[in-house]
Amino acid sequence: VRGEEAVSAQQAEKSSMPRRYQLFIGGQWVDAESGKTFNSINPATGEVLAEVAEADKADIDKAVEAARRAFEGRWSKVSARDRGRLLYKLAQLIDARAKELAALETADNGKPIRESLYVDLPEVVEHFEYFAGMATKIEGETIPVPGRLFNYTVREPVGVCGAIIPWNYPLVMAAWKLAPALAAGNTVVLKPAEQTPVTALELGRLIQEAGFPDGVVNIVPGFGETAGAALASHPGIDKIAFTGSTEVGKKIARAAAENLTKVSLELGGKSPNIIFADADLEQAVNGALMGIFFNQGQVCTAGSRIFVDERIKDDFLAQFRERAERIRLGDPMDKQTQMGPQVSEEQLKKVKYYVHLAHEEGATLVTGGEQPQLEGALARGYFFRPTIFADVKNEMRVAQEEIFGPVAAVITFKDEEELIEQANRTIYGLSAGVWTRDIVRAHRLAREIRAGVVWINTYNIFNAASPFGGYKQSGYGREMGKHAIELYTQVKSVWIDLSGRPL
Ligand code: NAD
Repeated sequence: VRGEEAVSAQQAEKSSMPRRYQLFIGGQWVDAESGKTFNSINPATGEVLAEVAEADKADIDKAVEAARRAFEGRWSKVSARDRGRLLYKLAQLIDARAKELAALETADNGKPIRESLYVDLPEVVEHFEYFAGMATKIEGETIPVPGRLFNYTVREPVGVCGAIIPWNYPLVMAAWKLAPALAAGNTVVLKPAEQTPVTALELGRLIQEAGFPDGVVNIVPGFGETAGAALASHPGIDKIAFTGSTEVGKKIARAAAENLTKVSLELGGKSPNIIFADADLEQAVNGALMGIFFNQGQVCTAGSRIFVDERIKDDFLAQFRERAERIRLGDPMDKQTQMGPQVSEEQLKKVKYYVHLAHEEGATLVTGGEQPQLEGALARGYFFRPTIFADVKNEMRVAQEEIFGPVAAVITFKDEEELIEQANRTIYGLSAGVWTRDIVRAHRLAREIRAGVVWINTYNIFNAASPFGGYKQSGYGREMGKHAIELYTQVKSVWIDLSGRPL
């Protein structure tokens, strides 16, 4: 991201004026067939940020048709090198407008500007750059078959891909889907989350400006049960890529099964963040904070079950509490702010429900558990204080169900064997953290934990080159790195007789 200064007051002001957006289909900006619109809300104030055309089945049909025409038409003639160049151009355009996009992301989602500007936007740019380079490296194989035969494989694009994404990282999630799909030569119909459609639509403008042929990318905001369901069950798509809750992921898989559409799913988690007595405690406290309070706790990999060796429980809790209480909560546009509001009123209600449940289940509130008192417009925002519960048992619902908010469940353990059993006792398997100075134990844990990512003495680290995805009910398929190309290509095996003789 260029420039180190924070977003100017003018940019913040501009991003808080109501905006209007249409659907992006076949290279055109169009109203929904129904003429319907919906509002996207700024969660810091409850005010309307944008009025957005609402896609429904008829619009999804149009978008899928446009994507099909593009796939069978001009896009199939574009060389891998030129696909890479288009993606690289897009990365540059995003980079050039990073501040504006970050301000919009913050206004739509509520995440602190220091995160959208210095974490989300750089990750988006990196993603498009990485897959720009990947476009020319998608290769087949030659197979050593016996006899006078020649057998080779080619990797071809899957075709028209549907992509349904959540609200917690609106632009990052769009990048995770679009970059590998386009690098591999597919076309895409993208449905952003109804809570946060704005930056995906801004991305549509940049896709146009970069010069992608019409219909290669179509962006159709709308609600899950209408637009989302119409896309997932559409017989005209060849693949559906979904990131969101496990509950909806199951619906997607069911809908896709009807047409045997290929599916990849990145779903929920209830990840263990494990702190051994020999860990560097200050570092582990940082990791625990980062694990559960980053992005207001709305992270699929949130370290929401914190397992602490009972010998260091008191020290850990004292430091964890002190640091959690120092988190600066407030206007997400202020560059000093470390925590913004929850994304929506519904999400705030869900967090409150789980806090109530934790009390009922017998957990001990250490800090938080309520909304902060904020002044002015922010008083109507969906803020919630960083919350820690101790004396949690792994069987409690608060330790088993994904809250997707700033609520840490601290569970103590006595020995490693019992710990591993408990850490794995969950329907999820997205990620895990391990804090220890014992290298042998670190690798042993990495092997024993059933999760798609294990972080040792760190947490929430991602890179476009490193595969990401879940075990168990956290989903299937791996995004990022070379693995993402497998999701967006299919293998064709070609045989040639070299003998020239009849069979
Ligand atoms: P969600 O499942 O409610 O919604 C995700 C998307 O699915 C939205 O675009 C929504 O409109 C759409 N949708 C909802 N119902 C649908 C239906 N019946 N058919 C088709 N589409 C439908 O999830 P959310 O609340 O937006 O996001 C939070 C969830 O996402 C959490 O569970 C979180 O763990 C998960 N998540 C996972 C990852 C990951 O990579 N594993 C990353 C981010 C978020």
